Amino acid sequence: MSILTVQGVNKSFAGLKALNQVNLKVAQGQVHAIIGPNGAGKSTLLNCFVGRLEPDTGTVMFDGQSLLNRRPHEINQLGVARVFQTPEIFPDLSLLENVMIPAFAHRDGAFKMNWLPRIDGEAEIRDKALHMLEEVGLADNRSDHAGALSRGDKRRLELAMCLVQEPRLLLLDEPTAGMSRADTNNTIDLLKRIGERGITKIVIEHDMHVVFSLAHKVSVMAQGTVIAEGTPEEIRGNPKVQEAYLGG
Ligand code: ADP
Ligand code: MG
Repeated sequence: MSILTVQGVNKSFAGLKALNQVNLKVAQGQVHAIIGPNGAGKSTLLNCFVGRLEPDTGTVMFDGQSLLNRRPHEINQLGVARVFQTPEIFPDLSLLENVMIPAFAHRDGAFKMNWLPRIDGEAEIRDKALHMLEEVGLADNRSDHAGALSRGDKRRLELAMCLVQEPRLLLLDEPTAGMSRADTNNTIDLLKRIGERGITKIVIEHDMHVVFSLAHKVSVMAQGTVIAEGTPEEIRGNPKVQEAYLGG
């Protein structure tokens, strides 16, 4: 069964066709990778799932509900969370506070500033956030300022901030970009562990090692459209895919 169904999505920016009749079906519980050369439209497509951009035409259905014309926090409430290409964290707050914020937002249905003074009194939220930091291997650093983290650790923190909202669909835009091989392998292990909980994931990824380690299915985009789809093995040998990368 597919949890996300994208049909006929088009998006232009001042005459540039960034998305051209994109169709995509993402199966429940699977890891679906989207690959393709720079400028193919991968991030634009993800932006259309989270309320950052509205397609010009087409439909995006998540578990029977349209994700279009909704505010980002509403989409979040439906169970869709996203890890951005550049980590979006609160650099001046501690790691624990960074994870408590989305935990509050998830529980209360909206982001409210008035919980900030009560942060120490919220044992339940605090425990949940700490548990999440443990899961991504950052519990020992819980009191550190998030801004001081390495790039790889910032990504791990951001993942904890997403997971604490108990998403059903997790969108990851280049989760290993700029990481060392060791950090990349840690991230693969972490994503595999998360996979055991049955969260569906869409991963935009350049690193083929990551794609082949994680993905059940791969969609290849080039020039705003999906040019090939299949298992990692099928994609590996597809001449159209090789051509897209060489031509891109
Ligand atoms: P990818 O993530 O596959 O590298 P993007 O989705 O970021 O590609 O970009 C697809 C195309 O759309 C590119 O040509 C890019 O320059 C253009 N684009 C993306 N976002 C915008 C925007 N906000 N305004 C204008 N052009 C954009
Ligand atoms: Mg991108």
